[in-house]
Amino acid sequence: MTDETGAPPPGLPAPPPPGVSALPDGTYDGAVVLVTGGGTGLGKAIAAEFARLGADLVIASRKEDRLKAARDELAGLGGRVTAVPCDIRDPDRVAAAFDAAQEAYGLPDVLVNNAAANFPVPAEDMSPNAWRSVVDITLTGTFFMTREFARRHLAARTPGSVIAIGASYAWTGGPGFAHSAAAKAGVRSLVETLAVEWGPYGIQVNGLVPGLMPHEDMTADIRGNLDRARDEAARQPALRVGAPRELGWAATFLASPYARFITGHTLVVDGANWQRRGLVSPRMVTVREQMGRGAFEG
Ligand code: NAP
Repeated sequence: MTDETGAPPPGLPAPPPPGVSALPDGTYDGAVVLVTGGGTGLGKAIAAEFARLGADLVIASRKEDRLKAARDELAGLGGRVTAVPCDIRDPDRVAAAFDAAQEAYGLPDVLVNNAAANFPVPAEDMSPNAWRSVVDITLTGTFFMTREFARRHLAARTPGSVIAIGASYAWTGGPGFAHSAAAKAGVRSLVETLAVEWGPYGIQVNGLVPGLMPHEDMTADIRGNLDRARDEAARQPALRVGAPRELGWAATFLASPYARFITGHTLVVDGANWQRRGLVSPRMVTVREQMGRGAFEG
């Protein structure tokens, strides 16, 4: 692509290098941050930025081996890290994870609801089990975690901050992702509802939406989806994809003392990709065609 002068446009500037923090040193000294899905991908990147700023971390998800590997990696950043196995679909296991966190470092001050499940599939091919599983993890699991966090803070009369990781198809719909888009729309609604319900008690609830931020833990399904659209950077208004640390920096801001009057808001960190429109609409391509699937046979 070239601009009017014949030169390639620069796109949005690159972010600062890894290892740099967005906030003053020690912003999270003495704070406890619980990140669901903190053993992989964007959750691990978010956890890393809180750790650099002094937080004690609790990372929670189902697979212990991945959690332990991430714990060792994150501990290298300076703070204390505890890995707690938990399936967020189960309210008893959610309560047990909070018990474990509280026993380790105290009631978490910040909850980052990052765990989710997703894979592309045309809606007509989606099994009831696939629908239930994605909605249970992404929406119901997020609610169970958030409810437990709030109940404990309300009982203790302490403030807290919740960040729910969303997706921009919560507003636009997500062809090929009917289950995840519906679940993320529910998450966005929860952010707006709970911020009002719990604001009087000092609990902030915000959403944070990543754009395309490739990472080494992407599932084969999601990676395959990216590979179908080669040259992803050139398809973004920013002319680059996002770096996971850019999401981490936004998360540390939203839960920080510098954002105490921001609640019920969802911040999108995607280089304006979700607002992209052209003067001329692109040719319509069905989800089946995009995924290389043949005709629906019933
Ligand atoms: P990911 O690597 O697939 O991570 C998902 C995490 O959730 C894993 O650590 C997984 O750990 C955990 N998890 C799944 N089911 C769980 C359950 N039942 N209980 C507890 N933990 C569970 O995803 P990601 O790409 O880092 O995405 C992180 C968040 O960003 C998600 O909310 C996603 O929807 C959102 N997002 C990502 C992108 C992107 O470009 N990557 C774009 C838009 C939105 P276990 O398997 O160990 O349970």
